[in-house]
Amino acid sequence: MRSHANVVVVGGGVVGCSVLYHLVKFGQQDCVLLERQELTSGSSWHAAGGLFTVTAPSPVAEVHKYTFDCYRELERESGQSCGFHDTGGLGLCRTREEAEMYTRMGAAVRRQGIESHMISLDEVRRRAPIIDTSPLYAALWEDKGGHVDPASATQAFAAAARKLGAVIHRHTPVIETNALPDGRWEVVTPSGTIIAEVLVNAAGLWGREVAALAGIRLPLVPVEHHYLVTETVPEIAALDFELPQINDGETNCYARQEGQGLLLGAYETPCRHWAEAGTPMEFGHELLPDDISRMDWHFEQSAEIMPCLASAGVKRIINGPMIFSPDLGPLLGPYPKLRNYYCANGVMTGFNQGGGIGRLMAEWIIEGEPSFDISCWDVARFGDWATPEYTRATTGYFYEHRSDRVYPEQDHVAGRPLRKPPVYDRLKAANAVFGASFGLEYPAWYAPAGTEPRDLPGYARPNWFNPVNEECRRVRETAGLFEYSAMGKFTVEGPDAAAWLDTLLANRLPQRDGRMMLSPMLNKAGRIRGDVSVSRLSEDRFVLLGSDVMQLAFERIFDTHQPDLDVNVTNQSANWSGLHLAGPAAHGLLAQLAEADVSTQRLPFMSAGRFTIAGVRDVLVLRVSFTGETGYELYCANEHQPVLFERIMQAGGAHGIALAGTRSLMRLRLEKSFPAWGLDLSPDYTAYEAGLGNFVDCDKPAFIGRDACIDLCEQQGRESLVTFEINADKADAWGDEPVWLAGESVGYITSGGYGACTKKSLAMGYVRADCVDPDASYTVEILGQQRPAILQTRPVFDPDGSRMRA
Ligand SMILES: Cc1cc2nc3c(=O)[nH]c(=O)nc-3n(C[C@H](O)[C@H](O)[C@H](O)COP(=O)(O)OP(=O)(O)OC[C@H]3O[C@@H](n4cnc5c(N)ncnc54)[C@H](O)[C@@H]3O)c2cc1C
Repeated sequence: MRSHANVVVVGGGVVGCSVLYHLVKFGQQDCVLLERQELTSGSSWHAAGGLFTVTAPSPVAEVHKYTFDCYRELERESGQSCGFHDTGGLGLCRTREEAEMYTRMGAAVRRQGIESHMISLDEVRRRAPIIDTSPLYAALWEDKGGHVDPASATQAFAAAARKLGAVIHRHTPVIETNALPDGRWEVVTPSGTIIAEVLVNAAGLWGREVAALAGIRLPLVPVEHHYLVTETVPEIAALDFELPQINDGETNCYARQEGQGLLLGAYETPCRHWAEAGTPMEFGHELLPDDISRMDWHFEQSAEIMPCLASAGVKRIINGPMIFSPDLGPLLGPYPKLRNYYCANGVMTGFNQGGGIGRLMAEWIIEGEPSFDISCWDVARFGDWATPEYTRATTGYFYEHRSDRVYPEQDHVAGRPLRKPPVYDRLKAANAVFGASFGLEYPAWYAPAGTEPRDLPGYARPNWFNPVNEECRRVRETAGLFEYSAMGKFTVEGPDAAAWLDTLLANRLPQRDGRMMLSPMLNKAGRIRGDVSVSRLSEDRFVLLGSDVMQLAFERIFDTHQPDLDVNVTNQSANWSGLHLAGPAAHGLLAQLAEADVSTQRLPFMSAGRFTIAGVRDVLVLRVSFTGETGYELYCANEHQPVLFERIMQAGGAHGIALAGTRSLMRLRLEKSFPAWGLDLSPDYTAYEAGLGNFVDCDKPAFIGRDACIDLCEQQGRESLVTFEINADKADAWGDEPVWLAGESVGYITSGGYGACTKKSLAMGYVRADCVDPDASYTVEILGQQRPAILQTRPVFDPDGSRMRA
């Protein structure tokens, strides 16, 4: 065995083999894969191999499509069959809501070039004659659906990788991974030690154990999963074509043709976890004892739709373990705080996603970043807060609700509440309905007194529509108080703090103490990888605020940015709590509570300072606005938040203050056309495309992305972020709805909602730059309906911004 490699991949399942293949395909030399036993010795050998492409969100659909498309090429390159069956797929809908979901998703994935459409029940019977359509409402047809033979597909990735020069050592378990001071990894096996520049953990069912060798804990746990294969079914044997892949989301079942029989799989309830304390090292090409009674309900439901099942003999029952993460998404990318350690873990549908994951991982390792935004799968989205108990609760929930419909702004309850802001009980008493971000509860909205505080989600306007409108109205007319702890908060201190920030951020730094600026944080290509505010408290002391879910991803950037400079960056997110006071009465209220002058002369728009507020000392006050109203963000040590909160609410009574939640905030900012991180802003867009060009200062001598920006600022981008007013009727845009112009799809919505104060249904989205025309007649496709939309050249509320500056 060689003693050095550029990249060592641990694990020879479909994911590891795909990562290896893509690394060498993209030109990475000297790549080695180490496999404990035979290739496929985890979940990969016994998978059902089913493939579908109509899924959400959009980057995940891109991964599915890439994976689906790569099998043919893989067969050519490897000379080995993947057992690829390109049958197309059926998404069955037993209810109107399911049909609405598929209509939405089908429209969204057109962007990826995935063709799908709703078909009649006659058409369902034609494409799958074994289906009795009487329990069905509708069905979706997807062109890119089918299945592969899992072992063959994995071997094909491995064979193609070998042909391109990669080396695979089977029967070579990794027993130690030791970080070396120079950033390399010592990878120890019984057959020898390899020094690796980069290490990839693709150990599937053993992802936790391999992570532990590097001293880290991944929030993963395996679950049991059943499918069965029938004997020959005469109705299937009589067909002269192959049945499509069939997904029946409302019963959590999937089916496909296997030989002349049927394969039926189910996400059974209750979920049964496996090997919670750790996957046994000796577990190999094995299955778990089957318990087919766990599939009884699913079988009955499926037999109702596929009556031939009822009389079919069962040839084979598979009960195998698969590994889940707390939100079902894989854990990908460089692990924060470790150098050159990449995760490709928690992949629960590896044959749908393995190809795309291999591509993303190879890009990340070779280029430093994946080619499209995959933050939703970044390993950095979970911190230590994702405890084993939380992981157990969420994986159990998502297993049982694997195919549930996803609704606008829906929050799941599993594993919560986990982290609470100090005023949590007080907000709960005020009838808050909570969401959670980075494990931290935040009030999404407040249910009216006497009503049950819970979401009743829907694609049309849900039960929170009116209460949120009322919150918005109160913020615009008097003042609203938002609990605002869910922010990523960092102090940046030291003699080189300014120099360090200046090269990190695209905008110029605030020149004077007590001022603040907004700035994108860019990558080398000028794409946005963060959207932050930076406040200068003194010459060598700054506060940087950004998205809370990005805080570990930010730390990953900070750790490698100019490490030679004398600067100390501290993540204060868990130490500081926040409140956000906004509205025309906000200034008067703050002035009443502050023990110093907070007038516009002392604390103008976009300024910062430390004040004693309502007797609470050392509150960091930022005068900034995301609502379009006079606004103050107030940050204090956690223990002071309850006192600050109560005193503001007490004094605010006379001003007509109301509690308001995040859903109001998101709608108020839509009326101002303020883009939001993760929705309208992401690494898929340049600062110029996102309309943040004014926040990029190319006159600065150096910052990450400057070279690209010098070119980009001269060019028209591919797309532009715009705001639409939509004639929406009862269902507002939410995200991923196509924008049409003259019969052509020219863009996509990134966020939307109802502007309570302007009484307009609004949405932001990217439109092809050559199609931006305020006089054009656009439509936005909402739930299959073309809704007329008018492009707005200015914010629909207070376009001059005089209210927030007042
Ligand atoms: C019953 C069932 C049905 C499924 N059906 C589908 C489906 O229809 N479609 C779909 O897309 N997915 C399906 N899946 C999921 C799919 O099987 C997994 O997502 C996929 O196999 C995960 O691949 P992996 O490479 O991440 O992990 P694994 O397949 O678990 O591979 C990990 C590899 O790492 C090796 N390894 C571990 N530790 C070490 C070490 N220390 N040193 C060296 N090597 C090590 C292991 O031996 C193993 O070979 C199904 C799963 C099950 C259980």
